[in-house]
Amino acid sequence: MALWNASLNQNMLHEMTSPFATEAEALVLSWLAPYFGMQGGHLCAGSSVANLTGIWAARDVAGVKTVVASQAAHLSVEKACRILGLEFVVVPVDGRGRLNREQLPKLDDACLVLTAGTTATGSIDPLDLAGVAKWTHVDAAWSGPLRLSPAHAARLDGVEAADSVAVSAHKWLFQPKDSALVMFRDLMAANAAISFGGGYLAKPNVGVQGTRSAAAIPLLATLIAWGREGVAQRLDHLMRVADLLADEIEKSDYLELWGRPETAINVFRPVGSTAAAFVQAVPAGMLSTCVLNGEIWARSVAANPSVDANLVVNSILAASHEDA
Ligand SMILES: *Cc1c(COP(=O)(O)O)cnc(C)c1O
Repeated sequence: MALWNASLNQNMLHEMTSPFATEAEALVLSWLAPYFGMQGGHLCAGSSVANLTGIWAARDVAGVKTVVASQAAHLSVEKACRILGLEFVVVPVDGRGRLNREQLPKLDDACLVLTAGTTATGSIDPLDLAGVAKWTHVDAAWSGPLRLSPAHAARLDGVEAADSVAVSAHKWLFQPKDSALVMFRDLMAANAAISFGGGYLAKPNVGVQGTRSAAAIPLLATLIAWGREGVAQRLDHLMRVADLLADEIEKSDYLELWGRPETAINVFRPVGSTAAAFVQAVPAGMLSTCVLNGEIWARSVAANPSVDANLVVNSILAASHEDA
């Protein structure tokens, strides 16, 4: 699909140069947005752009002056504040990596950014806070697609009260890069604020990008081929793989688990040695690292639905023995 799409090379800037892709995008949004309580939106290059777009709408629809997010929020949130000239206010996290609601400032003039699946630990901020600020943007770049899984959708309950939501389709919707969604609860109001007309455009250009790829076409193909059920099966499998790895780490005398995985991200380290050296001892590309409270931890992200869970578990256990 990606190859065929590349050969068509349609440009989403202009409806007349992308008749099928425009239809495909409308269809994909009409299927996915309701899972998040949103009316619709558009595709963009990634959730960095989706976060920028959501916070841009917060500024120009709701007139927010500040953006409040936890210290575990993705760097693209601070980046968006810098670009948009908004003040960025950081709130500490609790012991589980979630925004600490006790330490929230006043939110009357603020956009509250809640993360569903933080980059380092996969933690989900308290989404029942959606709606308490002037504007709520949920960064569901990583775990948003769990809304399609009956087994796990409830983890993101509350998201439907947000004003805007970002989801990276090139993460847990298994798309080629670059593919993400930005969605809005009041689509008309948001689009009015983030659109620009122009002589040569039949319709206004919506969002940050001008020319963009027809990422909706492979996404539409995936959704038709697998259905909601097929996406959910893969996500449920990856959640189980992460749980299995967590079980094995908890049983091991050589490894220490940071906490049970919320969204299939395991954070752990060898007991009494550094994670940086340990990560070098497993096959390249299997693990990454993250820094929590100034300490380096190893991080395993269950992103590949074809993963051989035993291979991952055995490689990690073997490396921890060698390391010891
Ligand atoms: C990956 C990620 C982003 C950035 O998304 P890109 O698609 O890489 O631009 C933002 N927020 C979170 C929580 C992420 O996991």
